[in-house]
Amino acid sequence: MFGESVTPLFNDRTNYEICVKQAFYTEPTQSAGVQLMQTVIHDTPFQAKLLVMEMRLLAFGTAALNGCYKWMARYIRIHGQPSFDIPQMRFVQAGLGLSEDGTKVFLIEESILLGRFLAFTQHLQYWMTLKLFFISDYQGGKGLLTDPQVLSSSELGNIFAEGNVSSGYQSFERDHVCNEFCKFFDLRTDYANWPIDSGSRLSKSSPSEPGSSKAHLNGPLFNTGGSMDMALSTTTMSG
Ligand SMILES: [Zn+2]
Repeated sequence: MFGESVTPLFNDRTNYEICVKQAFYTEPTQSAGVQLMQTVIHDTPFQAKLLVMEMRLLAFGTAALNGCYKWMARYIRIHGQPSFDIPQMRFVQAGLGLSEDGTKVFLIEESILLGRFLAFTQHLQYWMTLKLFFISDYQGGKGLLTDPQVLSSSELGNIFAEGNVSSGYQSFERDHVCNEFCKFFDLRTDYANWPIDSGSRLSKSSPSEPGSSKAHLNGPLFNTGGSMDMALSTTTMSG
């Protein structure tokens, strides 16, 4: 989940944007006779164990990647610059956070612009499809993404396999925090007032503009493929 800290927490003293994560697992549940998958946040002792491991991986990944850049810098000092650009990458900075009453533990990462942008596209997809689906678990970088997971309404049926966690879909409205992109593009958050009518949602109506008086018109059904990682994925955390 994205938000802002009261004071800057990481090296970039101008950045108050943070991303708060907890590990979860999924389990089947019945709702009105329909089998759904629900997300369950791990209890605090196990949560702490998983998040400490995640911190250790981030620290290890950071050291390993920094080692590569130092090695390359030495090589380049001797042999000169390559004719191509070397991608400049790094892992996010992170720390563990406790709730005020000390009963919950979280992984707090610096929030990167790309993450907030992708979270915005989830809100936009959710709006354009009038709550049919959005892409979660974006993976990749440098403008190229891979391995998308789709969170969709149960109306669409089980067409996107295991990554499609219904409760993640259902909690979008509660968990999504609008950011500067959502605000600039004036995305609507009056979710209860969105016109949900599956017949018209699937029709080829013209795109509407969220901030305009035509906002009640149908969004086009989005045909390409986020809460950007409202929690860490089970594949990341349970291994
Ligand atoms: Zn938003």
